[in-house]
Amino acid sequence: MAAPGGTGAHAPLARRLTVLSGPSGVGKSTVVAEIRLAHPQVWLSVSVTTRAPRPGERHGVQYFFVDDAGFDRLVAEGELLEWAEFADNRYGTPRAPVAERLERGEPVLLEIDLQGARQVRRTMPEAQLVFLAPPSWDELVRRLTGRGTEPPDVIERRLEAARVELAAEKEFDVTLVNTSVRDVCSELLALMAVQP
Ligand code: ADP
Ligand code: 5GP
Repeated sequence: MAAPGGTGAHAPLARRLTVLSGPSGVGKSTVVAEIRLAHPQVWLSVSVTTRAPRPGERHGVQYFFVDDAGFDRLVAEGELLEWAEFADNRYGTPRAPVAERLERGEPVLLEIDLQGARQVRRTMPEAQLVFLAPPSWDELVRRLTGRGTEPPDVIERRLEAARVELAAEKEFDVTLVNTSVRDVCSELLALMAVQP
């Protein structure tokens, strides 16, 4: 059976696929932004989302921003490797660019939520699943609130989701605790076998 990642008979190539997950506010985007800046040779998948851009976010950089109908179309046409609904918005990973990189044997990094990580685990069991954990619950609340990008009701929903995500840590292959962004980046690059 062909792997849904489009890797077909080359399913072991999915070993080059690393998934970074963790609760909202733990610092996933910060880590990814640091890698993008310091290690442009690492290819990061750009997800599609129905959420509105935050200040400073650009179409095609942090996300491809689409409306509901656009997202429906991508799902119907099988264009997404995985997708999930998170805090009232939908997010998904475009399949083709990931498959292309994996076919070339290049390392690929996905920053996705727990539901997406579980889908990847099912469809591409060779993928490496990395959980980013906060130093403590209080620090997670501080980071999510301190970011100042969501109103209180959205923060509340994200914290509810965070409790569920934290409970799933043992499903992952590795946990990295985000105390220092720099340390997490080096650990992640080492896991991906990328030269620092
Ligand atoms: P996520 O993408 O996981 O939702 P963000 O990357 O947006 O989280 O980070 C949430 C907030 O925490 C941001 O304000 C960010 O600057 C801050 N942050 C991220 N990593 C650290 C860290 N290691 N120490 C302190 N603050 C951090
Ligand atoms: P945010 O709105 O804070 O950018 O992201 C919210 C959540 O959606 C985060 O947990 C992030 O990892 C997740 N996410 C981002 N892109 C994707 C994706 O393509 N698929 C899935 N399943 N989750 C994603």
